Amino acid sequence: MTTATLETTKTGFSQDTFNQYVMNTYGRFPVAIEKGEGCKLWDTEDKEYLDFVAGIATCTLGHAHPALVEAVTKQIKKLHHISNLYYIPEQGELAKWIVDHSCADKVFFCNSGAEANEAAIKLVRKYAHTVLEFLEQPVILTAKSSFHGRTLATITATGQPKYQKNFEPLVPGFEYVPYNDITAIEEAITDIDEGDRRVAAIMIEPLQGEGGVRPGELEYFLRLRKICDDTGILLVFDEVQTGVGRTGKMWGYENLGIEPDIITSAKGLAGGIPIGAMMCKASCDVFEPGNHASTFGGNPFACASALAVLQTIEKDNLLQNVQARGEQLRTRLRAISQKYSDIFIDVRGWGLINGMEINNNAELTSIEVVKKAMENGLLLAPAGPKVIRFVPPLIVSAEEIDQGSDILEKTVSQLI
Ligand SMILES: *Cc1c(COP(=O)(O)O)cnc(C)c1O
Repeated sequence: MTTATLETTKTGFSQDTFNQYVMNTYGRFPVAIEKGEGCKLWDTEDKEYLDFVAGIATCTLGHAHPALVEAVTKQIKKLHHISNLYYIPEQGELAKWIVDHSCADKVFFCNSGAEANEAAIKLVRKYAHTVLEFLEQPVILTAKSSFHGRTLATITATGQPKYQKNFEPLVPGFEYVPYNDITAIEEAITDIDEGDRRVAAIMIEPLQGEGGVRPGELEYFLRLRKICDDTGILLVFDEVQTGVGRTGKMWGYENLGIEPDIITSAKGLAGGIPIGAMMCKASCDVFEPGNHASTFGGNPFACASALAVLQTIEKDNLLQNVQARGEQLRTRLRAISQKYSDIFIDVRGWGLINGMEINNNAELTSIEVVKKAMENGLLLAPAGPKVIRFVPPLIVSAEEIDQGSDILEKTVSQLI
């Protein structure tokens, strides 16, 4: 990569003007990012950052990747949007790629993670009413500390009261269990079963992302699969953050040795171009024309972008890079964690989704580390108040992992 040659970035950007017009829904860091290349970003003051956030596990190929640039350029000149009233060749091609590279048989396209989960919730409910023949009240079990999105149904699915507060009444038909706890889920299924009210699905992340980068435990997930096989309950994996190579496998479920019945994907699927997908096994594909739809869902532009991302992952052997760079990163993080063993208590993750947990007794918060690292030129994201999250683009190099780790080490030394 050539050195940063930025001609004009003094754009006169004003945070005050921004805040005057944009609704105040995000706690934003006080920088405006203007340009990117690979794993590097530049703000409006020309300050350079190493990007270990990747738009929150979204910019799979980093920024301005030639394959994505070429695909979007070609597609926008050809045809960018057409209604699902018609066949869309790119949508069919993308669905085939996904089916050929996953345990799913069918795909529905939408535009975001929350929407993919909404589609899964609707599919579960229709399956419960028509196949399981529950008369009235199918229940979906989700995990505490989970995250499934910001629509009404998905904040209800999200097992964290802070996302639900002041938005009641919530959507009925959800119950929560602690993550990775076999006894709790067995008890919940027994407790809920009562006449018309029964568990129809378990909706869960193979590794909890927002909830603190917590990997699923093998034994727990084997048991979930067994429970679902024995009872007809559907197993839904929210892979919005873990899918598309992020964990070192194409899909997060491959780390757990089981196959879910329904999978949702979004974030990294088109490398930052908005897209969502809900995939399922043929056995639970109960949707018929009129049941579900999306104006933008699966349009030629989004699908061509996703195809470019997926083909690049394959062609450039990115899964191998994710595994190697993930190992390298965790080794460095563990060394830092051991050096400051009164501050850090855990380093965990799969592939390039990793978390470093701060001791509850330590004064330090994840936000403080993120802010100081940003000053030092490294972008990180919190995953809760005590976990620092590392989700760089899947193209990240060995040098960049070392550089990021060096900056983190310096940052920690400055904070304590
Ligand atoms: C980000 C995320 C979502 C929500 O995705 P949006 O595109 O923001 O709607 C849902 N589930 C998980 C696991 C996520 O990480």
